[in-house]
Amino acid sequence: MSTVITEECINCGACEPECPNTAIYEGGAQWELNGENHPALKEDIYYIVPDKCTECVGFFDQEQCAAVCPVDCCIPDPNNPETEEALIERARRLHPDQEFAADFPSRFKKG
Ligand code: SF4
Ligand code: SF4
Repeated sequence: MSTVITEECINCGACEPECPNTAIYEGGAQWELNGENHPALKEDIYYIVPDKCTECVGFFDQEQCAAVCPVDCCIPDPNNPETEEALIERARRLHPDQEFAADFPSRFKKG
C-alpha cells in the first residue's frame, strides 16, 4: 500500500511537487487518475494515493516525499508492504510512454 503520511503532517506542502507520480494531494483536494477525479482521502493533512505511489521505485533510490519532509511523517505503510515487482509494475502502468531500464532506481537496491 505504498508510502503513507501520518497525523504528524504539518501541511508544509514540501512533498507534493517532489512526487514523480503525482500521488500526493493536499487535504480536501480531489485526486485524479486517468482523467477521473476521486474524493479526497484526507481532509486535514496531505495524503498519498496508494494506487499512484510506487515508493519512488522506477525513479529514485529513496522516497522523495520522505527525503524532504521536515517532520519525517512519510513512512512505508506497515499494514500493507508491497514488493519491488508490484511497485515497478505500477510505475509502468502509470507511465505507459516511459521506458524503465532493467537497472531502474529503487529503494530496494540500496545497500
Ligand atoms: Fe510519491 Fe515517491 Fe512519496 Fe510515493 S514515495 S508518494 S511515489 S514521492
Ligand atoms: Fe506533510 Fe511532510 Fe508533506 Fe510537509 S512534507 S506536507 S509535513 S507530509
